[in-house]
Amino acid sequence: MNIILLGPPGAGKGTQARKLVDERNMVQLSTGDMLRAARTSGTEMGKMVAGVMDRGELVTDEIVIGLIREQLEGDAVDGGGAGGGFIFDGFPRTLAQADALGALLNELDQPLDRVIEMQVDDDALVGRITARSTCGDCGEVYNDKTTPWPADGNCANCGSTKQTRRADDNEESLRTRLLAYYKQTSPLIGYYYAKGDLVSVDGLASMDDVAESIKSVLA
Ligand code: AMP
Repeated sequence: MNIILLGPPGAGKGTQARKLVDERNMVQLSTGDMLRAARTSGTEMGKMVAGVMDRGELVTDEIVIGLIREQLEGDAVDGGGAGGGFIFDGFPRTLAQADALGALLNELDQPLDRVIEMQVDDDALVGRITARSTCGDCGEVYNDKTTPWPADGNCANCGSTKQTRRADDNEESLRTRLLAYYKQTSPLIGYYYAKGDLVSVDGLASMDDVAESIKSVLA
């Protein structure tokens, strides 16, 4: 089963994707994670997108479509890693990306089974994002208020001491990211609704309740 998790920054796409990877053997394809990895390893592309990402703007369709193509045509498919299917997390974000993904999946004879829209209101997003930190080693997500980084300083999942905060998790770039979402990404809701692929879930519910809603969509 191949699915898209669609929603504004802070809706919980990454958190739910990680649960699906653990529980259903799915493969998470997060363009945000791929771009951050390119920055960390200092590739030319990574250097090129750094400023754009920090400002909260979208990088070009060409770059992200290229990243997804590489993954789909490479090991992710051939190695059987996608036995449980792909989760597209943070991709597509524009209509051009949605068209490109449709064409790529067609080429590879892969279905797109569901597009799950995670609905969250803007006030909740600001609160979640400004409180967010992640483990620099395993990617576990924490929230200063609801699930704080453990007091002993070690990640509860892997024991690492590398608590990190994303450079773009500040109010100014969040405003730009939200604007980009409403202007460029939210038209995808209508696009997938018209195709009959869209299901919406309440992203404001607790993490476990959201996971349950997603589970029933995938049943
Ligand atoms: P995310 O981790 O999904 O919030 O993405 C972080 C940043 O990476 C975004 O604010 C964009 O600058 C960039 N990015 C990630 N995915 C995409 C995409 N599909 N299209 C364009 N830019 C993206």
